[in-house]
Amino acid sequence: MPLSNKKIELSVVIPVYNEEENIQPLVERLVKAVSGITDSYEIIFIDDGSMDATVNRVIEMQKIFSNIILLKLSRNFGQHNAAQAGFDYCSGEAVVWMDADLQEPPEEIPKLLGKMKEGYDLVYGLRGNLGGSVFKRAASLLFVWFFNKLTKTPLPVNACTMRVMSRRFVKSINNMPERIRFQAGINSWVGFKRAGVEIKYMPRHSGESKYNLVKMVKMSIDGILSFSMMPLRFITIFGLVVAGLSFADMLHIIAARVFGFEANWGAGWAPIMVAIYFLGGIQCIFLGLIGEYLGRIYLEVKSRPLYIIEEHYKSQFGGK
Ligand code: UDP
Ligand code: MG
Repeated sequence: MPLSNKKIELSVVIPVYNEEENIQPLVERLVKAVSGITDSYEIIFIDDGSMDATVNRVIEMQKIFSNIILLKLSRNFGQHNAAQAGFDYCSGEAVVWMDADLQEPPEEIPKLLGKMKEGYDLVYGLRGNLGGSVFKRAASLLFVWFFNKLTKTPLPVNACTMRVMSRRFVKSINNMPERIRFQAGINSWVGFKRAGVEIKYMPRHSGESKYNLVKMVKMSIDGILSFSMMPLRFITIFGLVVAGLSFADMLHIIAARVFGFEANWGAGWAPIMVAIYFLGGIQCIFLGLIGEYLGRIYLEVKSRPLYIIEEHYKSQFGGK
């Protein structure tokens, strides 16, 4: 629920986690880019439990520029939950969501807004060039391919975080009750007319990526399990195939006994052991997979809040 009812034309939502060196250049470029579009805007930083000087840097920027809001979360809740805090708070008719590391240049925002005016509710940036790490790009392509094979809510290939959403689009996102928040999937699920626009994609301005391999794998698993039941169906199909094969083998053994062929039943210890190990291993994997879904149901049922706002810093010049 928005904390304010003030009408605003454009909101920019930026989750930040240990981005101290990026705040000043980002704000300077962003204010320049956005104030060329409208005076009625707000820039909402959501501090996702930073341990560096990010919060202080945003507060310093608030002293220079109006319309900057800072929601400081009580700990690190993850980029997607932090973004949700921004979506819940913001009141813009159009809402931009972007990263803080200047990989997506703020100067590209007018391009996205221009496309939106053609009648779209979601316009996302497409990485027009290879500005980030090759590994990340390849991992993202692989994930999107896999996700799109397993779900009915396809993700755009090569999309980056920067996107602009209409008010009704954001309202639909905010109405999604789920706790495990994979925003790209949620964006896809809510529907509406959408388009992609190529934007420049730069290397990170300062600092390190906040997503190491473990975090990337975790997010990919969360994304797929939140939007697909195909892995569960795969277990059923596998079980049917194995049951079918063993039934065929049983018929074969009965026929061999009745008609007296293949008399050497003593041999075959090794294949039996392999079959036992194989099926034992597969059963553990499948049990684990069911456990993953069960754990997610557990998290959803507990219905804990997605984030907790510890402090709400307003701009010197007013703001909300
Ligand atoms: N971020 C966040 N919480 C986290 C991790 C990241 O708010 O737990 C923010 C981060 O500060 C940045 C954005 O999410 O603004 C994207 O993170 P990053 O640039 O590290 O991701 P990458 O571009 O490497 O995928
Ligand atoms: Mg980045």
